[in-house]
Amino acid sequence: MKQLSLYFHFPFCLKRCRYCDFVSYPRRDRYTHLKYKEAVFQEVSWRVNEEMLRGRELSTIYLGGGTPSLLFPEDVEDILNYLQHFFAFSPSVEITMEVNPETVNREKIDSFRKAGVNRLSIGVQSFNPRFLRFLGRSSSLEQIENLLLQIEKVRYPYWSVDLIYSLPWQSFEEWQEEIEQVLIYHPPHLSIYNLTFSPLVPLYQFAKYHPGVFPSPEEEALYFEWVIERLEKEGYKHYEISNFSQPGAECQHNLNYWREGEYLGVGVSAWSYLEGRRQKNTSSLKNYLKRIEEGKNPLTFQEKLESYPKLAEDIILHLRTEEGITVSYLLAQYEREKVEVKLKCLEYLSQEGFIIKEGDRFYLSKKGILVANQIFQEILD
Ligand code: SF4
Repeated sequence: MKQLSLYFHFPFCLKRCRYCDFVSYPRRDRYTHLKYKEAVFQEVSWRVNEEMLRGRELSTIYLGGGTPSLLFPEDVEDILNYLQHFFAFSPSVEITMEVNPETVNREKIDSFRKAGVNRLSIGVQSFNPRFLRFLGRSSSLEQIENLLLQIEKVRYPYWSVDLIYSLPWQSFEEWQEEIEQVLIYHPPHLSIYNLTFSPLVPLYQFAKYHPGVFPSPEEEALYFEWVIERLEKEGYKHYEISNFSQPGAECQHNLNYWREGEYLGVGVSAWSYLEGRRQKNTSSLKNYLKRIEEGKNPLTFQEKLESYPKLAEDIILHLRTEEGITVSYLLAQYEREKVEVKLKCLEYLSQEGFIIKEGDRFYLSKKGILVANQIFQEILD
């Protein structure tokens, strides 16, 4: 049976974090949450009629947001039951839910587990109350620590912690302290990002007027280099630029994205990638609900990817992972002539030490990982 990943976007949070540019609304009332859930069900019931979605097996389901842990466990059970009407679930289906510590307690995460969730992705971001306040997070250190202490007891097979570095006035020692703190709980998976934000978020103004308070690019590289070594010593595999896992605990849902696998995204602002076609739902909640109510498709953007940009994107997505990309894969997917142009670029990057060539496989070197965005730009040009 042809495999598929499914992403369910839940766009509500307790309040907006100061760096966030995800599609999320500070709405906590249950009526809105339930109305939205019903609208997404409606969208699913339409989409499953599409020929390309018939007879698919879900290998991963990801409840992301927003803050899906604002949902009640019975809502999650309802969502999973609803999906099971239309799709078979693979026997090893990975069902991830993003969780913010201030929205759950032991009982709630236990009930999510019973509803079928088998992986939690916990938005910690920092163990330092100063940084939590700066980022505008709703969770306190106490709530974070409580959740991490409970999670082992609830026996989630897989769970992950998100952390952010390169925060204002963050010293190297403070960053090291963050990592030592998280290691106390032995998370099977860690996602580590540097702080980035778009001109649309409140932190942008702060950064504009205080450019000198953030760690420099050299310091950022030092922080990241250190964390790679520290986590490798603890047995973590650096399997994607921002992701580290204990063996077997990689996020299958995200691996599917990086391997150019197909996925269906439902809910406001969700992206899909099906049969070489990329699609996006409207980013406006009001518009999403209105369109569904009027019986209209919420898709507002579609493109059939042409071979050339897709080739570059495909290389970049694969290079994000430790597996990298092989020449035989590229030749099987794309015209030889176009592949050869990109291979010249990869060869050059490998001579410069940013990429390692092993047989017919190319993957990022340690030096390349630290400047990955520049490398990717080079491949796109
Ligand atoms: S909790 Fe996540 S989605 Fe919600 S505002 Fe904060 S960063 Fe954005």
